[in-house]
Amino acid sequence: MTKQKNCKICNSSSLRVFEHTATCNNCRVILYYPYPDAKSHYSIAKNWTQERVLNWYSKSSFYNHRNFTNMLLFVMDESFKRKKLTILDYGGGGGQFALVCKSHFPEVSVYITDISDYSLLKEWRLLNIQIPFRKFAKDKTKFDFIFLNDVFEHVDSPGTVLKQLAGKLKENGKIFIDTPKQFWLYTFTRFLSKTIYKKLLVGTVTIFHLQIWSRKSFELIVKNSGLKVSKYREVSEYTMPADHYLKNMSITNPFLRFMALIFYKNSKWFAKNKIISVLSR
Ligand SMILES: [Zn+2]
Repeated sequence: MTKQKNCKICNSSSLRVFEHTATCNNCRVILYYPYPDAKSHYSIAKNWTQERVLNWYSKSSFYNHRNFTNMLLFVMDESFKRKKLTILDYGGGGGQFALVCKSHFPEVSVYITDISDYSLLKEWRLLNIQIPFRKFAKDKTKFDFIFLNDVFEHVDSPGTVLKQLAGKLKENGKIFIDTPKQFWLYTFTRFLSKTIYKKLLVGTVTIFHLQIWSRKSFELIVKNSGLKVSKYREVSEYTMPADHYLKNMSITNPFLRFMALIFYKNSKWFAKNKIISVLSR
């Protein structure tokens, strides 16, 4: 663990530490805290076998298929048909995005890079052009679009990643980001019950999910990376079945489970848990 006092997003020294998290009193981001060192963070991420990756993506594939289509429609439209664009799926994991992307835009080239080169599934490899992660910084390919689907919460230095990706955009290129955001449930449970608030944080802030954004912290990191937000929306989106989240939060009490399931099924009406955004230079 790295002892560091300031907020890694806005550099404020005013942090409210609770259990394994810290909330910044200035930009409101919730951080995994104390900050893990990059080495332990990366070694955990690299430990997945192909079988485990296949299991993970099989569980989330229906959700992601829909989410990827929504993402594409948020950034691109019919005018991009018949264009030979280069697109990067940054942190693309198993490689499912390329299938959905090329089903809408058959002529685009979809590149993929991920902290774990081995997570690209052989079943989906065919439509991806892989850039090994260790070679990514020096790779000269420039992109029309870069997609970060459920990635921005995982990276230990989001500002560094954004600056690097900004340098890999073609002129008029755009970056799409889809990442978890705090919503009213965080404040509500914090005042209602520290036990439930802790469960929420255990389920959503982990060594993998290093930051849960507020709108202010998100806009700040984009601005500090020399980019601007050209499109922004808050949506309700899940990538896994309800059971996955209940297990992560260790919710076993039947009443709480029942309430959580009602919440999950109806959350599109009242809980916007994700930021979807398009960035440009
Ligand atoms: Zn901050």
